[in-house]
Amino acid sequence: MKLIIKTCTVLPFAGGIKDGERERENLNSHNNQDSTHSTKLLSIVVPCYNEELVLDEFYTQTTAVIEQIQNDIMPNLEYEFVFVDDGSRDNTATKVRELNKKDERVHLVKFSRNFGKEAGILAGFKHAKGDMIVLMDADLQDPPHLIIEMVKSHADGYKIIYTKRKDRVGEGYVKSKFSEAFYEIFNRISGVKIESGVRDYRLMDKSVVAELLKMNEYHRFSKSMFAWVGFNKKCLEFDHEPRVAGQTSWSFWKLFNYAIEGFVSFSTAPLRFAFIIGFLVSLFAFVYGIYVILRTLIFGVSLSGWASTIVIISFLGGIQLIVLGVIGEYIARIYEQVKNRPHYIVEEEF
Ligand code: UDP
Ligand code: MG
Repeated sequence: MKLIIKTCTVLPFAGGIKDGERERENLNSHNNQDSTHSTKLLSIVVPCYNEELVLDEFYTQTTAVIEQIQNDIMPNLEYEFVFVDDGSRDNTATKVRELNKKDERVHLVKFSRNFGKEAGILAGFKHAKGDMIVLMDADLQDPPHLIIEMVKSHADGYKIIYTKRKDRVGEGYVKSKFSEAFYEIFNRISGVKIESGVRDYRLMDKSVVAELLKMNEYHRFSKSMFAWVGFNKKCLEFDHEPRVAGQTSWSFWKLFNYAIEGFVSFSTAPLRFAFIIGFLVSLFAFVYGIYVILRTLIFGVSLSGWASTIVIISFLGGIQLIVLGVIGEYIARIYEQVKNRPHYIVEEEF
């Protein structure tokens, strides 16, 4: 069992656990004040893309942890699994159907194609009916035993219990340097702060999830949305675990796009940066223009200067293209948003 170190911001919690707006089915209502004795539903939301090899093991390990919680801390804990099959090309959906035959608390939301993990998270949250919602990866890189600590902390009044990797061991040098640079820049330019190494793996109170569901942006960047909603949080740190089977679906190019998504969807700083560059370059061009005029007036016209002219033209051309590109990123997002398409299409759901 891994060592858990509790760190990070610990904010005082005022009042008990507030009732969220979302409807709940399947749940009887013991109105007991003591949260360890009242019936609580725990939803485990799992976005899956080509995870047929890991689902059995994931289910076995996670249910074992839930049973431990039922035996040791919360006898009235009920649970459900919401597996979102994000257009897998393998037999992920079949695996989930098999699990459902054994345990009807296993649910499936199957997309018509791959819509990306963010869409999977959204669909999982919409489907989940729990008082507590745990979001975790299928590949067991998010150690299930942390759920015990999460449930305890939720009973103590924390609304978000998130997790963070202690280090980036097992990640390539280039990938980890890029990640660090991303967090560094992101935290400087955006209104919300995200810590380096924070995972999506977390337990959230249903009231937090209700707030997340109100955010209807087309381009979702969950890491910063989780930070944006606020609430009192607790952080659990853990050691990196390798995938039990299968492959990561995050190529370098996908991660690069994800980083751009983060910058553009949570900050308008790139636009300001483009404006500042434009301003500095025009200032330089203005000063250089005065120098050229004075030189012509004093020394007369000369034919030299061809090289510097080409350099300046291409430099300015480059800057203009960059600035247009940055503006284009924002316009593209406005375009996607006003089209108002659904985030995903569900082919099968139970
Ligand atoms: N995932 C998904 N849709 C995608 C890519 C990934 O639902 O398009 C899921 C995947 O099945 C896993 C989680 O998101 O449960 C994290 O993916 P992965 O393990 O590939 O990422 P890593 O752990 O390498 O960051
Ligand atoms: Mg993984």
